[in-house]
Amino acid sequence: MVAKTLAERIRRDGPLPLPDYMGAVARAYYAQPSVIGAAGDFITAPEISQTFGELIGLWSAVVWQSMGAPAKVHVVECGPGRGTLMRDFLRAAERVPAFVAAAQVHLVEQSPTLRAHQHALLGHRASWHDNIDAVPSGPMILIGNEFLDALPIRQFERTASGWMERYVTVDDAGKFCFVLRPGEVAGAPPAQPGVIFETSPAVTEFAAKVAARLVRDGGAALLFDYGHRTTAAGETLQALKQHKFCGLFDSPGQADLTAHVDFAAVADAARHAGAAVYGAIEQGLWLNRLGIKLRGVQLAQGKSPEVAREIESAIRRLIEPDAMGALFKVIALAAPNLPRPEGFLPEDGA
Ligand code: SAH
Repeated sequence: MVAKTLAERIRRDGPLPLPDYMGAVARAYYAQPSVIGAAGDFITAPEISQTFGELIGLWSAVVWQSMGAPAKVHVVECGPGRGTLMRDFLRAAERVPAFVAAAQVHLVEQSPTLRAHQHALLGHRASWHDNIDAVPSGPMILIGNEFLDALPIRQFERTASGWMERYVTVDDAGKFCFVLRPGEVAGAPPAQPGVIFETSPAVTEFAAKVAARLVRDGGAALLFDYGHRTTAAGETLQALKQHKFCGLFDSPGQADLTAHVDFAAVADAARHAGAAVYGAIEQGLWLNRLGIKLRGVQLAQGKSPEVAREIESAIRRLIEPDAMGALFKVIALAAPNLPRPEGFLPEDGA
């Protein structure tokens, strides 16, 4: 459906900017019945181990205390998927009952299908919004796991005569493909012809907005994603279907399109808006500092050897460098008056 609509639009109006294509395709993709989990296209940290959401819940409780324990705090999750992270978050946060009592849970989610999943787990507890602008103002703790990678990007290609921008068009066979148009790009490193450079105005706008709110109303944000700590050239846009990579234009609206996050750009945008920035650091390092292994040992107590092994191997998957521990990074943005949040050290760089 989305493919037909987009192809008609291109035939009528000419090539589409890549962000417009990605935005339309993502809306169709996430509205499908099952995208996350073993039966879907990809699996995420909260779906692998309950410890992920639990540690984030405890981290948030400590942030809330450091904010002066306000009587009301917005706990916002962007792109909550099946709602698993927030369920584990709230269960663990019960250790600090006053935090849970103060927490007003807001879920920023555009997919009606995923909203239904979230409602099944959190219906009594949360309210839903289409975007961050719709979340009421006030002190906030914001969480996002694999949210930024789903936002649209722009791609530039170095040619003999300079940078050109990739637009999406349709070929004679009716398949989507790229076409180059003149395009300006700031901040691209020197590159040979053929090299691709990506930017994400959607990601940097989001970071700037969140940071501005934190500076104004107080609080912190914690964002996990795969990506790089310094800006670099290279193509990272990828399509994933049933846990396998496929061509970008093979199954429009039926494959997950994501790009690696440029955490340097996130940090710059947040700092520019006046926020303090911690990291990005590797997810494995952060989870280890928060005591994920100890939590695993605790969880395994009294369980069968088989279950204990499963708990341990799920945690290994999140922290080991050759699994998700190194490719995934975590960055914290905070109001400048907050102390350094848990899991980040001065030597991590800010
Ligand atoms: N955080 C979840 C899901 C990650 S998938 C997990 O870790 O399992 C990406 C999530 O972001 C989905 O919930 C998807 O519907 C949502 N999403 C993607 N683009 C969005 C947008 N522009 N606005 C709001 N939500 C979006």
